[in-house]
This record gives sequence, structure tokens and C-alpha cells, in this order.
Amino acid sequence: MSHNYLAADNLAAHVKALANTIGPRPTGHPAEALAQSYVRHTLQDLGFSQVEEMPFATWDTWGYTTITPNALALTGSALGRLGAPGQMLSGALSLLSGLHLYRASSCNRQPLAPLYPNKKETKNLLVRIPAQGQRLHRVVLVGHTDSNKHRQTFAPAMKRFIPLLDSLNIAFPLVHGAAQLAQALGGGKTAVWLSRISAAGMLVSLGLLAADERAGYVAGANDNATAVAALLGLGGYLKNNPLQHTEVWLAFTAAEEVGCVGMHKLLDEYGHLLNDAFFIDFEMVGCREIAYVTQHSSFSYFTSYRPDRESLRWAERTAQRHPELGVTGRPMIIGEEVGALRGRDYRGLCLVGVGEDGWLANWHQYSDEFAHVEAAGIERAARFALAMLEELDGPTNQLSN
Ligand SMILES: [Zn+2]
Repeated sequence: MSHNYLAADNLAAHVKALANTIGPRPTGHPAEALAQSYVRHTLQDLGFSQVEEMPFATWDTWGYTTITPNALALTGSALGRLGAPGQMLSGALSLLSGLHLYRASSCNRQPLAPLYPNKKETKNLLVRIPAQGQRLHRVVLVGHTDSNKHRQTFAPAMKRFIPLLDSLNIAFPLVHGAAQLAQALGGGKTAVWLSRISAAGMLVSLGLLAADERAGYVAGANDNATAVAALLGLGGYLKNNPLQHTEVWLAFTAAEEVGCVGMHKLLDEYGHLLNDAFFIDFEMVGCREIAYVTQHSSFSYFTSYRPDRESLRWAERTAQRHPELGVTGRPMIIGEEVGALRGRDYRGLCLVGVGEDGWLANWHQYSDEFAHVEAAGIERAARFALAMLEELDGPTNQLSN
């Protein structure tokens, strides 16, 4: 095997295998398992004898995370006709649903998740590359194996409305809950009207969300076979050129597209070892322009999040020292695993590909195919991450290739 692990052609071959040969990879479905065995075999070929599997059960589309709370709040709303005790219960269910949607929108754990039916088995894959000498740092590189559905709400003409629609989706059950409680406490006509308007809003949300579930899953070449390819390339390189003082973990997470469930599983299992770790998440890096995200919009106006300051400074410094890579910082409309990390007080930074229009390229569209991936971008993202690792590892370790 060639030792040019980070060459664009080698990285593109991984994307092709995952997105073309295997194709769409719904989490918990056989195709995602095929992708995971591709990753495991590639890692074994690279010399990793231990590939850890971290199994868990999950739901296979984010529709559960958005439809369940709206359905619960609307069903509860019928209790409002039973007088004050019914209104209290309805109010509580609606507020819980609103809280759930708020948390889901920022990639945090979802209180209603135990209610979802049809859970499926999947797993994270994890390998560790120990430092050659005394370990001073630990860095986790992250890329998810699953792919999302084609969604009308992400179509080029529609996507600008995502933050507005998701904000309303969070606001309706919260307003409804407050209005139901106000009615129980003897509130006047305003409470009645707010309750009706918010119930109508939830009904419209429910219709849109159900319609958005009807298309098939996308090949996920950019999202996120490119990330898996970057991790495999870096794995090959680092296996042969381990860092002096930095232990590197490669985390191939499942179930990102349904609410970052794989990342939460990783933190549940190993969070106690990762309090001081740095996380670099790769998202959709098959674009000419590569950036580190300085501010993540998430999906609503209320749920934006940021990388930690230290990671941001680290990326800025690396970008300054490596102008040849042309990587810059910028805010993005995106929600991903750094949201899960930051919500639980871990560090986290996202490397991202920026499409021609400034959005994620072919985001949740059937056009997310291998033919539309810019392999040079994957190489640049991987080389930037390597430059960050070398920067962190210190001046004694002058890796180059
Ligand atoms: Zn993704």
C-alpha cells in the first residue's frame, strides 16, 4: 500500500467505496454496518489490530425527534377540555415537548427518546494511537458513518427558512404549554387564543415534518464519507508517524444524523478520560473551501453554539502558520457533534467544507454524490488537522511529508 495516506486520490477511493459501492447508510441499517466493516477492515490493513466496537440502540431518522414531541403536545392538548387538571397536564406535556425540541435542535440528549419505537442496533468504532513518549495531550478525531434523508426543507430555495421554521417548531409547544397553564389558573381570553394559535402551529409543523420524512436516504458522499476518509488517511499516517506527546483517537460515530447519539454514547463510555481532550469533528469536507467553524447556527435562532476558546486559538494559530493550506475561520449554518460536546462541557472544534453559496454543499439532498465531491478539499482538511496536531505536540516533533 502506498504511504501517501493523505493524497487526495487515496482519500477519494474511500469516499467512492462508502458512497457509491455501499451507498446510502441509514443508521442501524445493513448498509451502515457494511460501511462500518469497510472502516474496520481498512484500519486492520493499516496495522490497527484492536478496533473497538461500542454497540448501542438508536432510532434511524430524526423524524422521531421532531414528530414525537409535536404529537405528544397535540394529544395532550385534548386534555385541556377536561378543565383545570387537564389543562395543567396538557401544559406540562407541552412544555416538556418544547424543552425536548430545544435540546434536540442543539444536538443535546433528548428527554423523550425513550418513547421512540423501532430502535435499531448500531455501533461506534474507535482506535487509539498512543504517543511515542510521555503523553501530555489527547485528541479525538471524529467522523460519522451514517447518512441522512433527502429533505425538501433543505432544497436550495427552502433552506434559508430552516432557522425560522425550527424556531417556530420550538416556540409553538412552549407557548401552548404556557397558555394551557394560564388557562388552568383562570387566565382570560388571551390564553385561550394563544392556546389555539399555537395548537394550529403545531399541526402545521407536524404536517411539514411528516412530509419531510417521505424521501429516501442520500448517498452521503460529502456528508460524511469525506470525514471517514479523512480519518482513515490520518490513521494510516499517524500509525506510521506517531506523535511524541499526543495520543490520538479516531472515533467513527454512528447515528449522528438522528441527534448525535453516537457522540453521546462515546461520552457516556469514555467521558471521564476526555475532560482535557481536544475534539476535532470533520463535516462535509469535500469542498474547495475548507474552514474551521467559529460559530455554529444550529437549526434555530435559540440554539447556536461555539467551539471552546482554546480550540479556536489553536486553529487560528495553525491557520497563520500554514497559509499554504488556505483554511480560515467562519460562522456556518450547521448543527453537528460539537453541539453535543459543548452541551456537556467538553472541548470541540469543527472542520467543514464550504459550498459555492456559503452553505454546506448538497446538504441532505440526493445530489450528495461522489461525483460532486472535491477530493482536494478532503486532503486539505486532513492536512490542516495534522498541522494542528503537530502544533499541539510541540516543536520537538517536526513531522513532514
Ligand atoms: Zn454530517
